[in-house]
Amino acid sequence: MNRVVIIGHGPAGHRLAERLRARDGSARITVLGAREAGPYNPALFTRAMTAGLPLEWMALPGHDEDVRLRPARVTSIDRENRLVRTADGAHHPYDGLVLATGGSGHVPDLAGLRRADGALDERVRSPRSPHDCLGLRAALGPDTAVTVLGGGLLGVESAHALAAAGHQVTLVHRGTRLMPRELDSAAAEIVAARLRANGVTVRLGEIPVELSSGKLSLRGTEPVRTDALLLCTGTRPNTELAAAAGLDVAAGGIVVDESLRTSDPRVYALGDCARHPAVRRGTLDTTWNQADALAGILAPAPDSGYHHVEVTRARGSGLEVTCLGPPELLPDGTPGIEHVTFNDRGRHRYARLALHGERLAAATLVGLEEACAELTRLHETGAPVPSNRLGLLLGLERRAETGGPPVTDKVLCHCNNVSESTLTAAFHAGAGDVPALAAATRATTGCGSCTDSVRRLCESLSAAALPENSHERAFPAEEEDAA
Ligand SMILES: Cc1cc2nc3c(=O)[nH]c(=O)nc-3n(C[C@H](O)[C@H](O)[C@H](O)COP(=O)(O)OP(=O)(O)OC[C@H]3O[C@@H](n4cnc5c(N)ncnc54)[C@H](O)[C@@H]3O)c2cc1C
Repeated sequence: MNRVVIIGHGPAGHRLAERLRARDGSARITVLGAREAGPYNPALFTRAMTAGLPLEWMALPGHDEDVRLRPARVTSIDRENRLVRTADGAHHPYDGLVLATGGSGHVPDLAGLRRADGALDERVRSPRSPHDCLGLRAALGPDTAVTVLGGGLLGVESAHALAAAGHQVTLVHRGTRLMPRELDSAAAEIVAARLRANGVTVRLGEIPVELSSGKLSLRGTEPVRTDALLLCTGTRPNTELAAAAGLDVAAGGIVVDESLRTSDPRVYALGDCARHPAVRRGTLDTTWNQADALAGILAPAPDSGYHHVEVTRARGSGLEVTCLGPPELLPDGTPGIEHVTFNDRGRHRYARLALHGERLAAATLVGLEEACAELTRLHETGAPVPSNRLGLLLGLERRAETGGPPVTDKVLCHCNNVSESTLTAAFHAGAGDVPALAAATRATTGCGSCTDSVRRLCESLSAAALPENSHERAFPAEEEDAA
């Protein structure tokens, strides 16, 4: 497949183009993206809401110049003649086509959300882009009462971040458990307790009825004071283009097989627009993983094939939730599974491990930041779990026990395995700020949670590089990330 056309330049299309270019220098890659700017790392958007992170810090690294990037909306796919048409009148022939059209925020059918012309009321925000999040930040005053609607990953992260930034925040969730797709009730209670300790009013099992002047009414109970309403009510896959081209589409997205192939063998789909048999929710980890695999499928390599690895993370200062593997393996009584549970409610720490023999089949971790990287590695590689499980959970376990190299250099970016020494070397080679370090090492371009650590390292290296007696700051004063 020499001519590969990718529709959509979000995280999925971006990563695929990058990985495909790295694997096959001869492939002619065209990326057609409806948005002029970006793409950006969505894992940093909640920080943009609260800390005004500069746009360039959220941007994913630019492509090699051989990747043809066209800011154009695709209007149709002609499968018979193997070409796609864009709104500017151009057409792009392909040997292989990839749909990476992502998803759109779901707007619930709730009175008061829309104006007479159908647009969202100005108090209602749907955080889909860094611009939405920066706009929200600009609109919020110190006394603004913000209601976050939805208690999934995005609702939990957003409520936590906004409260940490000093806003009055209420989280309203229909279910009785936060992040119900990922967490068992013990873990969900600890996450709720963590949010409450951070100042969020958590209202579970509440049905919203209407947004009216200054309040959100709830069925049969007290309304919530609401100056701004943040919709975190889920994502709907963008499937219109695929459906119009006659590809199989179901409620969860464009139907793909184990190898991310659609009902047309020349057309693939990945990320939030695709419905893969093993994926229950779209996350960045799933998206990266699919893009890496699809690059191997399109530019065949010995390891080609997609092996689904399920990882979900919710993060913010003092909030650390990681879910690995299928949650169905976590309840007691699952055949063939041994469970390990650690519940430290007072300190908002919880772990539940599902072990299949010596392998980590699934896990939920709350507030155990030090353990996340090692447990993610054990889950992804299938390496044996060390016998000292408590040490592992508390981050005391060394890789040496599992046959890996001993930990001597702190890894700051766990997504791309970038250590402090690699970043320091890149800094001394000329990468003097966070975007340059991201371009040189890929640090911060995964889940983004290391951005503050990378910034701090960069600041301390810059300070150390200043001549003695200099009190000049090497950086313009950045606002502290309160998230
Ligand atoms: C605010 C927010 C925060 C999030 N935080 C996290 C997080 O912390 N952790 C996590 O795991 N996940 C998070 N997610 C989910 C994560 O963003 C998605 O799983 C991921 O972005 C999916 O990437 P994608 O490229 O498939 O889709 P998208 O990011 O939706 O990108 C699709 C792109 O395709 C373009 N497009 C669509 N139709 C066309 C067309 N016809 N022609 C051309 N271009 C087109 C769109 O303009 C868009 O740029 C978050 C999502 C949001 C909205």
